[in-house]
Amino acid sequence: MFVLGVTVFSIYNESKPSLDAIDRQTTAEGLIDKVNSINEARVTLINSQGEILASSFRPDTIEPKIIEYVDVQVINNRVYFLYKKGLFVENLSLGLIVYNDITILLIEITVIGTLAILLFAVSTLTIYLRGSYLTRKAFGVLDELTEKANNISSQNLNLRLNVNDSTDELIEIALTFNRMMDRIEKAYEKQNQFVSDASHELRTPISVIQGYARMLDRWGKDDKDILQESIQAIKKESENMQDLVEKLLFIARNDKDTLVLVKGRFNMSELIGELIRETILLETNHNIESHVEPEIMLDGDRDRIKQALRIFVDNALKYTETGKIITIKLTIEDNYAVVTVRDNGIGIPEEQLPNIFDRFFRVDASRERDKGGHGLGLSIARIIVLRHGGRIKVASKPGEGTRFKIYFPIDLPPSTSHSE
Ligand code: ADP
Repeated sequence: MFVLGVTVFSIYNESKPSLDAIDRQTTAEGLIDKVNSINEARVTLINSQGEILASSFRPDTIEPKIIEYVDVQVINNRVYFLYKKGLFVENLSLGLIVYNDITILLIEITVIGTLAILLFAVSTLTIYLRGSYLTRKAFGVLDELTEKANNISSQNLNLRLNVNDSTDELIEIALTFNRMMDRIEKAYEKQNQFVSDASHELRTPISVIQGYARMLDRWGKDDKDILQESIQAIKKESENMQDLVEKLLFIARNDKDTLVLVKGRFNMSELIGELIRETILLETNHNIESHVEPEIMLDGDRDRIKQALRIFVDNALKYTETGKIITIKLTIEDNYAVVTVRDNGIGIPEEQLPNIFDRFFRVDASRERDKGGHGLGLSIARIIVLRHGGRIKVASKPGEGTRFKIYFPIDLPPSTSHSE
């Protein structure tokens, strides 16, 4: 465009001084002389009858042309744009036909036009090829996604999409799919681990019961001591099994989201009092110390909260030598009812603390099985506390003891929260 502008400007500039000189003529004679003598522009002067009065063309080169308004003419392989301009001198109406050489301009227009068409064709082709490449890539990832999604089963949860082959736009889809598969695989492994741990835990009481059943079969009918021992062991192991199955069912219900909490407003101070009385009644080997702030009310499932707190208290008793002190407290901290269960028992090594809420986790599996633990208590307690919007803090030192602090949010009902 710029080049064309420059060419048009130079065509105009080349002939302008001559045309200005012609314009300045005031006599017909001067005008004829000027037109005959100029070299820089090609012009022809005609009278009102169309007769040629003067011309800047030498007579032997071309035949001057007479036109009405405008015209295009090819002369000696050059293209001219002709236009007629009216002149008035000495009351004469004359016409000046101006020839502009537009050959270069036309060549430029042709070249630039061709280049523009070429550029357009190349860009269209590039866009088309890139588009079809991207489309193929897009469909490639979607095909792979469809195929992998169709093939996914529990046997090959490790299937992932190839992120490197995806375009920028599809990387997010591929990454999302892979992240989803990571979560599914993890959940599936966790579930598998749970089932295998549960089976393992159930196998022990079943073997013990089978062993005693065989013993009874052989000698039980005659030997009263064996009979008594077997009955006791079978009773203990079946209770153990029942306890385990109930815990497993609780966890399964929570996982399936079918765990129902029967929530209501209750007196937490009374509940803790009850828990302390029951503990003292059943447990005479430890010194139970307590401090309960009165009239603390809570919204929640009273039975479940008691079940959770019993787990902490039972653990404190289980993992503390007889004769030592167990402290149970209920206080208020900010907007939380805080239950503290502290013992000065065996404690938990620091590196094990993050694991104690994991299912089937026991610091020392062999030692703790004797104490009747399956490693499920704290995970159940955690479920209950979390379902009430609470949290648990634990601090422990091996040989010194453990302190659990369980926080339950107190959501005061409108009638009491705005009391005067
Ligand atoms: P378990 O039924 O085996 O007691 P839990 O889930 O209740 O299982 O506890 C997990 C593990 O955390 C226990 O096996 C024990 O090693 C440790 N633990 C829990 N409470 C205490 C405590 N008060 N003192 C020492 N160790 C504890």
